[in-house]
Amino acid sequence: MESGDVELSAQMDYPQIMRILLASSNEHKRHEISQLFSPHEILLPKDLGIDFDCEENGETFLDNAMIKANALFDVAKHMNIPVMADDSGLIVPALPSLLGVRTARFGSEDGGPLLSAHEKNQLLLKMLKDKPDSERTAFFVCAIVLMMDKYTVYCAVEHADGHILHEEVQGNGGFGYDPVFYCNAAGCSMATLPDGQKNLYSHRGKAARSILRLI
Ligand code: IMP
Repeated sequence: MESGDVELSAQMDYPQIMRILLASSNEHKRHEISQLFSPHEILLPKDLGIDFDCEENGETFLDNAMIKANALFDVAKHMNIPVMADDSGLIVPALPSLLGVRTARFGSEDGGPLLSAHEKNQLLLKMLKDKPDSERTAFFVCAIVLMMDKYTVYCAVEHADGHILHEEVQGNGGFGYDPVFYCNAAGCSMATLPDGQKNLYSHRGKAARSILRLI
Protein backbone atom coordinates (compact mmCIF):
# COMPACT_ATOMS: atom_id res chain seq x y z
CA MET A 1 0.00 0.00 0.00
CA GLU A 2 1.32 3.47 -0.85
CA SER A 3 1.28 6.39 1.53
CA GLY A 4 -1.65 8.01 -0.36
CA ASP A 5 -3.80 4.91 0.29
CA VAL A 6 -3.15 5.12 4.03
CA GLU A 7 -4.29 8.76 4.08
CA LEU A 8 -7.40 7.93 2.09
CA SER A 9 -8.52 5.15 4.43
CA ALA A 10 -7.90 7.43 7.43
CA GLN A 11 -10.06 10.12 5.82
CA MET A 12 -12.94 7.69 5.35
CA ASP A 13 -12.90 6.61 8.96
CA TYR A 14 -15.80 8.81 10.05
CA PRO A 15 -18.79 7.60 12.07
CA GLN A 16 -21.73 6.35 9.97
CA ILE A 17 -23.96 8.87 11.68
CA MET A 18 -22.51 12.21 12.71
CA ARG A 19 -24.05 15.20 14.42
CA ILE A 20 -23.08 18.22 12.32
CA LEU A 21 -23.48 21.80 13.49
CA LEU A 22 -24.73 24.09 10.70
CA ALA A 23 -23.72 27.77 10.79
CA SER A 24 -27.19 29.10 10.04
CA SER A 25 -30.45 30.11 11.64
CA ASN A 26 -32.43 29.38 8.46
CA GLU A 27 -34.86 26.48 9.05
CA HIS A 28 -35.38 26.06 5.28
CA LYS A 29 -31.67 25.40 4.85
CA ARG A 30 -31.69 22.99 7.78
CA HIS A 31 -34.56 21.11 6.15
CA GLU A 32 -32.82 20.84 2.75
CA ILE A 33 -29.40 20.04 4.21
CA SER A 34 -30.87 17.43 6.59
CA GLN A 35 -32.43 15.63 3.60
CA LEU A 36 -29.15 15.83 1.69
CA PHE A 37 -26.92 14.61 4.49
CA SER A 38 -29.29 11.98 5.93
CA PRO A 39 -28.68 9.92 8.08
CA HIS A 40 -26.33 12.51 9.60
CA GLU A 41 -28.11 14.80 12.05
CA ILE A 42 -28.00 18.54 11.30
CA LEU A 43 -28.10 20.83 14.34
CA LEU A 44 -28.40 24.61 14.40
CA PRO A 45 -26.40 26.68 16.92
CA LYS A 46 -29.61 27.49 18.82
CA ASP A 47 -30.18 23.73 19.40
CA LEU A 48 -26.98 23.74 21.48
CA GLY A 49 -27.73 27.05 23.18
CA ILE A 50 -25.17 28.88 21.03
CA ASP A 51 -25.97 32.45 20.06
CA PHE A 52 -24.25 32.64 16.66
CA ASP A 53 -24.02 35.56 14.29
CA CYS A 54 -21.15 36.59 12.09
CA GLU A 55 -20.45 39.25 9.51
CA GLU A 56 -20.33 37.83 5.97
CA ASN A 57 -17.91 40.24 4.35
CA GLY A 58 -16.12 37.92 1.91
CA GLU A 59 -15.82 38.56 -1.80
CA THR A 60 -16.97 35.11 -2.87
CA PHE A 61 -19.48 32.53 -1.66
CA LEU A 62 -16.61 30.28 -0.67
CA ASP A 63 -14.97 33.10 1.34
CA ASN A 64 -18.21 33.61 3.24
CA ALA A 65 -18.77 29.91 3.87
CA MET A 66 -15.20 29.67 5.23
CA ILE A 67 -15.72 32.79 7.40
CA LYS A 68 -18.92 31.30 8.90
CA ALA A 69 -17.42 27.83 9.38
CA ASN A 70 -14.29 29.18 11.07
CA ALA A 71 -16.28 31.52 13.33
CA LEU A 72 -18.65 28.76 14.46
CA PHE A 73 -15.83 26.22 14.83
CA ASP A 74 -14.10 28.66 17.17
CA VAL A 75 -17.21 29.16 19.30
CA ALA A 76 -18.05 25.42 19.41
CA LYS A 77 -14.55 23.91 19.53
CA HIS A 78 -15.01 22.64 23.10
CA MET A 79 -17.97 20.56 21.83
CA ASN A 80 -15.85 18.52 19.44
CA ILE A 81 -18.48 18.45 16.69
CA PRO A 82 -18.01 18.87 12.89
CA VAL A 83 -19.15 22.26 11.65
CA MET A 84 -20.77 23.01 8.30
CA ALA A 85 -21.46 26.35 6.62
CA ASP A 86 -23.37 27.08 3.44
CA ASP A 87 -23.28 30.37 1.60
CA SER A 88 -25.48 30.81 -1.40
CA GLY A 89 -27.09 33.38 -3.60
CA LEU A 90 -28.39 34.35 -6.98
CA ILE A 91 -26.43 35.78 -9.91
CA VAL A 92 -28.28 37.71 -12.61
CA PRO A 93 -25.79 38.82 -15.28
CA ALA A 94 -28.16 41.61 -16.42
CA LEU A 95 -27.86 43.13 -12.92
CA PRO A 96 -24.15 42.84 -12.22
CA SER A 97 -23.02 43.51 -8.64
CA LEU A 98 -26.58 43.88 -7.24
CA LEU A 99 -26.93 40.24 -6.17
CA GLY A 100 -24.13 37.64 -5.86
CA VAL A 101 -22.68 37.72 -2.34
CA ARG A 102 -25.11 40.60 -1.66
CA THR A 103 -28.19 38.48 -2.49
CA ALA A 104 -29.59 38.51 1.07
CA ARG A 105 -29.21 42.31 1.22
CA PHE A 106 -30.71 42.96 -2.23
CA GLY A 107 -32.74 46.18 -2.14
CA SER A 108 -31.70 47.25 1.38
CA GLU A 109 -29.61 50.16 2.57
CA ASP A 110 -26.19 49.26 3.98
CA GLY A 111 -26.78 48.28 7.61
CA GLY A 112 -30.56 48.71 7.21
CA PRO A 113 -33.23 46.04 7.69
CA LEU A 114 -33.51 43.29 5.06
CA LEU A 115 -36.49 43.16 2.72
CA SER A 116 -38.78 40.14 2.97
CA ALA A 117 -38.37 37.40 0.34
CA HIS A 118 -41.57 38.56 -1.38
CA GLU A 119 -40.34 42.19 -1.47
CA LYS A 120 -37.00 41.09 -2.94
CA ASN A 121 -38.73 39.02 -5.59
CA GLN A 122 -41.04 41.89 -6.54
CA LEU A 123 -38.08 44.29 -6.78
CA LEU A 124 -36.20 41.84 -8.98
CA LEU A 125 -39.22 41.43 -11.29
CA LYS A 126 -39.58 45.21 -11.48
CA MET A 127 -35.91 45.71 -12.39
CA LEU A 128 -36.17 43.12 -15.17
CA LYS A 129 -39.64 44.23 -16.32
CA ASP A 130 -38.74 45.19 -19.87
CA LYS A 131 -36.01 42.60 -20.38
CA PRO A 132 -36.57 39.88 -22.97
CA ASP A 133 -36.03 36.26 -21.97
CA SER A 134 -32.51 36.34 -23.44
CA GLU A 135 -31.54 38.89 -20.75
CA ARG A 136 -33.20 37.11 -17.83
CA THR A 137 -30.64 34.34 -17.45
CA ALA A 138 -29.70 33.63 -13.85
CA PHE A 139 -28.03 31.03 -11.73
CA PHE A 140 -27.93 30.04 -8.09
CA VAL A 141 -24.55 29.32 -6.52
CA CYS A 142 -23.85 27.42 -3.32
CA ALA A 143 -20.60 26.95 -1.42
CA ILE A 144 -20.52 24.36 1.36
CA VAL A 145 -17.65 23.99 3.81
CA LEU A 146 -17.46 21.03 6.18
CA MET A 147 -14.86 21.32 8.94
CA MET A 148 -14.25 17.94 10.53
CA ASP A 149 -11.52 19.50 12.65
CA LYS A 150 -9.20 22.46 12.35
CA TYR A 151 -6.99 20.71 9.79
CA THR A 152 -9.55 18.69 7.82
CA VAL A 153 -11.81 20.89 5.76
CA TYR A 154 -13.91 19.84 2.75
CA CYS A 155 -15.27 22.48 0.32
CA ALA A 156 -17.51 22.41 -2.72
CA VAL A 157 -19.01 25.13 -4.91
CA GLU A 158 -21.75 24.33 -7.42
CA HIS A 159 -24.40 26.16 -9.41
CA ALA A 160 -27.83 25.64 -10.98
CA ASP A 161 -28.75 27.35 -14.25
CA GLY A 162 -32.03 29.01 -15.10
CA HIS A 163 -33.76 32.31 -15.71
CA ILE A 164 -35.94 34.82 -13.91
CA LEU A 165 -39.65 34.33 -14.58
CA HIS A 166 -42.05 37.21 -15.36
CA GLU A 167 -44.02 36.68 -12.14
CA GLU A 168 -43.74 34.77 -8.88
CA VAL A 169 -44.84 31.15 -9.29
CA GLN A 170 -45.52 29.84 -5.80
CA GLY A 171 -45.57 26.18 -4.91
CA ASN A 172 -45.35 24.21 -1.70
CA GLY A 173 -41.61 24.16 -1.52
CA GLY A 174 -38.48 26.23 -1.50
CA PHE A 175 -37.80 29.65 -0.06
CA GLY A 176 -36.21 32.99 -0.92
CA TYR A 177 -35.96 33.55 -4.69
CA ASP A 178 -37.31 30.10 -5.64
CA PRO A 179 -40.73 31.44 -6.83
CA VAL A 180 -39.08 33.66 -9.49
CA PHE A 181 -36.41 31.16 -10.57
CA TYR A 182 -37.08 28.82 -13.48
CA CYS A 183 -34.69 25.91 -13.13
CA ASN A 184 -33.53 24.59 -16.53
CA ALA A 185 -32.73 21.09 -15.31
CA ALA A 186 -36.11 20.67 -13.57
CA GLY A 187 -38.13 22.46 -16.28
CA CYS A 188 -40.21 24.48 -13.77
CA SER A 189 -40.03 27.14 -11.07
CA MET A 190 -37.84 25.99 -8.20
CA ALA A 191 -40.72 26.67 -5.77
CA THR A 192 -43.11 24.25 -7.49
CA LEU A 193 -40.87 21.21 -7.06
CA PRO A 194 -42.30 18.77 -4.50
CA ASP A 195 -40.49 18.45 -1.16
CA GLY A 196 -37.19 16.68 -1.63
CA GLN A 197 -37.07 17.11 -5.42
CA LYS A 198 -35.48 20.56 -5.33
CA ASN A 199 -32.36 18.86 -3.96
CA LEU A 200 -32.05 16.81 -7.16
CA TYR A 201 -31.46 19.94 -9.24
CA SER A 202 -30.40 22.72 -6.90
CA HIS A 203 -27.02 24.34 -6.36
CA ARG A 204 -27.19 23.15 -2.73
CA GLY A 205 -28.01 19.58 -3.72
CA LYS A 206 -25.08 19.46 -6.13
CA ALA A 207 -22.65 20.96 -3.60
CA ALA A 208 -23.82 18.57 -0.88
CA ARG A 209 -23.32 15.55 -3.15
CA SER A 210 -19.80 16.78 -3.96
CA ILE A 211 -19.02 16.98 -0.23
CA LEU A 212 -20.46 13.51 0.35
CA ARG A 213 -18.23 12.12 -2.39
CA LEU A 214 -15.22 13.71 -0.66
CA ILE A 215 -15.90 12.27 2.79
P1 IMP B 1 -27.40 33.03 2.65
O1 IMP B 1 -26.69 31.89 2.03
O2 IMP B 1 -28.17 32.60 3.87
O3 IMP B 1 -26.51 34.21 2.89
O4 IMP B 1 -28.54 33.45 1.62
C1 IMP B 1 -28.35 34.44 0.65
C2 IMP B 1 -29.64 34.81 -0.03
O5 IMP B 1 -29.88 33.89 -1.09
C3 IMP B 1 -30.90 34.84 0.83
O6 IMP B 1 -31.69 35.94 0.41
C4 IMP B 1 -31.59 33.53 0.48
O7 IMP B 1 -33.00 33.64 0.61
C5 IMP B 1 -31.18 33.34 -0.96
N1 IMP B 1 -31.07 31.91 -1.24
C6 IMP B 1 -30.08 31.06 -0.85
N2 IMP B 1 -30.35 29.81 -1.26
C7 IMP B 1 -31.53 29.87 -1.90
C8 IMP B 1 -32.32 28.87 -2.51
O8 IMP B 1 -32.03 27.66 -2.52
N3 IMP B 1 -33.47 29.30 -3.07
C9 IMP B 1 -33.86 30.62 -3.06
N4 IMP B 1 -33.17 31.58 -2.48
C10 IMP B 1 -32.00 31.21 -1.90
